[in-house]
This record gives sequence, structure tokens and C-alpha cells, in this order.
Amino acid sequence: MADTPDSSSTDKVVRTEAEWKKILTPDQYYVLREKGTERPFTNKYDEHFEPGVYECAACSAVLFSSETKFNSGCGWPAFYAAKAGDRVTLTPDNSFGMKRTEVTCTRCGSHLGHIFNDAPQTPTGQRYCINSVSLKFVPKSELSDAEKKQAENAESESKPATDK
Ligand SMILES: [Zn+2]
Repeated sequence: MADTPDSSSTDKVVRTEAEWKKILTPDQYYVLREKGTERPFTNKYDEHFEPGVYECAACSAVLFSSETKFNSGCGWPAFYAAKAGDRVTLTPDNSFGMKRTEVTCTRCGSHLGHIFNDAPQTPTGQRYCINSVSLKFVPKSELSDAEKKQAENAESESKPATDK
């Protein structure tokens, strides 16, 4: 087996709502902590298909891979599998008179979206319908040593030299 320690992914991140409010943008707070839903089609990752991973925007746990992302046409990023099953927690959600299953980040408990069994075109038949604002994309080229570091740093370092 690989000798890379993976215990960090199971460390729980516990913060007060006041702390989350400081860390997150208002849009992120609304979705992640208040279980809101962002607007479809105009969000960041709906039609984003570059290779890499998607981390929890709140605690940076790696949750989804571009390899399982597909275009569902629903207006939000859709995945047919989580990076590792136990990194997300599924909970029955009967709010608004609908029978749905809520998807939350196991590490920090933040709301990500819902999962549906309506994607027969995928290997699992499942569709994780996730809010873009709940995710933070890390390009594949930066994964080797940046996976566990902040994507913010990775972003500023990775500016390609633009020759105009
Ligand atoms: Zn999280």
C-alpha cells in the first residue's frame, strides 16, 4: 500500500458559526453553513472540466475529482462519485416537501448539495449535485505538493507567463 499518511482527511474541523462567518464569503456562508443553494448555470464550476480535484471550500478536504465530473445539464457541477466515499456524509432531507438526500463534508459538516439517483449514463447512476461555491478547484498540475496546502497559494504561484 502507499505509505502516504492519510489521517489528516479524517480530522474533524469544528468551528463556531461566528468563526465560519469570518472565514467564508457571504455567498459561501449562505450555502455551506445555512444550507442555501446558489443560482444554476451562472456558477463557477458548472461547465468547468479541467483535470484536477475539488476541495471543500470551508476546510480544504479533497472531495471530488474531475474524473467523475460530468455534464448533467442541471446547472450545477455534477459528479457521479465522491473522491472517497467517507469524505462526504449523506443524510435524508425531507425539507420543502421533497424526498432528497443531503451531501455534507464529513470533515467540517458544511453543506455541499444533494445526491440523486437519476444519472443512468454514469457508472454509478448517481448524481452529486454540488454548489460551486462549496468547492475549490485545484488543477492536477499542482496536486503533488499542493494538495494539502492552501489553494490560495497555489493559485498565485501558478500564474502562467503570458506572452502577448
Ligand atoms: Zn469541509
